[in-house]
Amino acid sequence: MRDNPPKLPDSLAAPSDLVSAAAPALLPGQASRFGKYELLRLIGSGSSSSVFLAHDPFAGREVAIKIASPDVLGDPDKGRLYSRLFLNEASLAGKLNHPHIVQIYDAVVADKICYIVMEYVAGGTLAQHTRPGHLLSLEQIVEIIFKCTRALEFAHQLGVTHRDIKPANILLVGDHDIKIGDFGAALTGQTQLTLIGAIGSPAYMSPEQINEQPLDHRTDIYSLGVVLFQLLTGHLPFTAETQASQIYRIVHEASPRPSSLRPDLPPALDTIVARAMAKDREQRYPTWQAFAQDLVSIARDGLLYGGGTELAESERFDILRVLPFFADFPDAELWEILRFSEWRRVTPGSLVLHDGARGEVFAFVAAGQLAVSKDDTPLDVLCRGDCFGEMAVLNRRTPTRSADVTALTEADIVIVSGEALKKASDACRLHFYQSFVDVLSNRLDIANQRLAAAASPLLPTLPEA
Ligand code: ATP
Repeated sequence: MRDNPPKLPDSLAAPSDLVSAAAPALLPGQASRFGKYELLRLIGSGSSSSVFLAHDPFAGREVAIKIASPDVLGDPDKGRLYSRLFLNEASLAGKLNHPHIVQIYDAVVADKICYIVMEYVAGGTLAQHTRPGHLLSLEQIVEIIFKCTRALEFAHQLGVTHRDIKPANILLVGDHDIKIGDFGAALTGQTQLTLIGAIGSPAYMSPEQINEQPLDHRTDIYSLGVVLFQLLTGHLPFTAETQASQIYRIVHEASPRPSSLRPDLPPALDTIVARAMAKDREQRYPTWQAFAQDLVSIARDGLLYGGGTELAESERFDILRVLPFFADFPDAELWEILRFSEWRRVTPGSLVLHDGARGEVFAFVAAGQLAVSKDDTPLDVLCRGDCFGEMAVLNRRTPTRSADVTALTEADIVIVSGEALKKASDACRLHFYQSFVDVLSNRLDIANQRLAAAASPLLPTLPEA
């Protein structure tokens, strides 16, 4: 047990009906424990629940536990609504496994107690970066929104529309990473509940959501557009004295351009926000992919870094995503690879791999061309998507390079160490080995064709039939 364990707030500390309703989840008299979990501290409270940092002694990890407020659950109207929100979120446990979505580990939804045990995310929410003076860099904003588009595309592929995208539901991990949480209001295919009308702030709602029309993923695209607007400017696009006039403005008025509030913004960001926040959803990005692509383009065009040469993470992801080698890797594994790979830009003429050197890493060409040669005899030219250096890593008996690889043009290469690959997740490693087999069988095919072509003049010509 740790020193000075926190107390549950009064509303949760000892109401006997709650304790008995929650049994065996709650151990009476031990306010610092919640079932098997050791409560460490209160992270925060929302309108309907409190979230605690806790320790799961069995899994040996920190978790966040969201516990519905007993007062809300006891309320005849709100109680039903909020337990359905918990049930909705709990139903997604184990389904939305994505590096940029908060993972749900466990959930209990009963009459008098509802709680969800989830992955603990330490960095607070994006809400802390929505005010002037607290804004993130343009590079960070674009990276974060890009990751949101990929996570929400993943959810959409599973038939899930979030419906409550807002900065308070996007948790931060370090400076550039995020995890989307709070899928309580999500439309999941099984649940066609009209929950959202009764909860949440209208500021991020799409016009069709406000008008209670049927929704699809484009409502989340709109809401993420609002989040982007706010992260860029420190202001909401539509504000008003009353909620009614705010709602009127969302439905009827065109959104201002972010650059009208912050003139130094590149015009391309105005265009992206306008497309994401189009009132008519037919005018919006039709897909998450289209939204993500525009974010990558703006990063690629160097508009965010004053022409710097470093590739943004979104750009790197996008490059890997389209390489045939990674075609069968799910997004989650690509993010994993981005974490353990090194990206290097090489100048024409630089020696990238040295014949005879020990092979501890292998690499992919992300851009440019490289020449493979042996004793100055050219063997091959490597282009975007080709992998090289893997033989020495895979070959345990002769782990040395058998050729030189030299950059022909300026080139971007992605380097993966054999050690890092050993530590990758089983699924990721398996995908690597499958793709290596494809590469090797292709090479064998090409070698056979070359051999056949070289041998053909030597073969006796068959008489024509
Ligand atoms: P509301 O429920 O009214 O929309 P909210 O989203 O702020 O408000 P909660 O979802 O109850 O309320 O969250 C309370 C606090 O707990 C917030 O500060 C939130 O950032 C934090 N929190 C929620 N989930 C996690 C998590 N998985 N890891 C770390 N902190 C979390």
